[in-house]
Amino acid sequence: MADLQDLLDTIAADMAAIEERGRSADYIPALARVDPARFGIAVVTAEGHSFTAGDAETPFSIQSISKVFMLTLALGKHGDALWRRVGREPSGSAFNSIVQLEFEHGIPRNPFINAGAIVVADAVLDRGAPQGAIGELLRFMRFLAEDDAVEIDIEVAGSEARTGFRNLALANYMKAFGNLRNAVDDVLNVYFNQCALAMSCRQLAMAGRYLSADGLHPGTGHQVISARRARRVGALMLTCGHYDGSGEFAFRVGIPGKSGVGGGILGIVPGKASIAVWSPGLNERGNSLLGSLALERLSEATGWSIFNGGLSI
Ligand code: GLN
Repeated sequence: MADLQDLLDTIAADMAAIEERGRSADYIPALARVDPARFGIAVVTAEGHSFTAGDAETPFSIQSISKVFMLTLALGKHGDALWRRVGREPSGSAFNSIVQLEFEHGIPRNPFINAGAIVVADAVLDRGAPQGAIGELLRFMRFLAEDDAVEIDIEVAGSEARTGFRNLALANYMKAFGNLRNAVDDVLNVYFNQCALAMSCRQLAMAGRYLSADGLHPGTGHQVISARRARRVGALMLTCGHYDGSGEFAFRVGIPGKSGVGGGILGIVPGKASIAVWSPGLNERGNSLLGSLALERLSEATGWSIFNGGLSI
């Protein structure tokens, strides 16, 4: 596996040399301040080996990548009944779009666009107190990553709460359709805090392992989610994980992935590896520009693609 370390080092060096790095998300003021020169990558293999390069130990705001973990928690609580409140189709629209919601009676297209993730946050909140749901997610992430150092960046959560007018609009609109059970403020409190989870590439790759291992947490042998659900979450990541850039990501990279506007991407190679990359500059769809490129290089060099029958390395 020395080759994999060499490969990550080469990818990190190549990424450092690229000048066009995209733009950091500026609609959340605390994210606009992050240095666009940063780049990190971490791979944890099915055998339990980890490989890292670049700024893989620096915590960043995982933002929408948290939606994968909240979906896991919501399915654990509500099972397939959740699918009455949120769909499973790619939206073809921006992550924060409101246009489809009126036609579709307040039922968001999928759990990874903001509207869908707000419904999922409502399902996890489940008539409890926001602090309870936020604490549950934080404990879950620490367990998955096997690292109690995972934290929520309260500055980022506060920054988004002050400027999250679109999310407030989406939540109010769905509340009007009866698709939120809890108070809008409580649901958004959970949502903004989940998005403000700060994790390094290493921690995030560790946390994603269960999705590449049929739902099993390799560290403890605990079944986090059934194999069937793990497969379904992966399918949603592939079709919806990059919003209106999901087709392009599947075309170029060929593995399920979930992006966040903090510049992170979690990639899952079933039976092989969990991967996290981070580069804060985004493309015009709000997905990490160099993160996508790095994953494309990695999947090409390793043969890791769900469309490759042999799944080499
Ligand atoms: N917190 C961000 C928002 O709601 C998450 C969006 C994202 O990462 N794509 O706008």
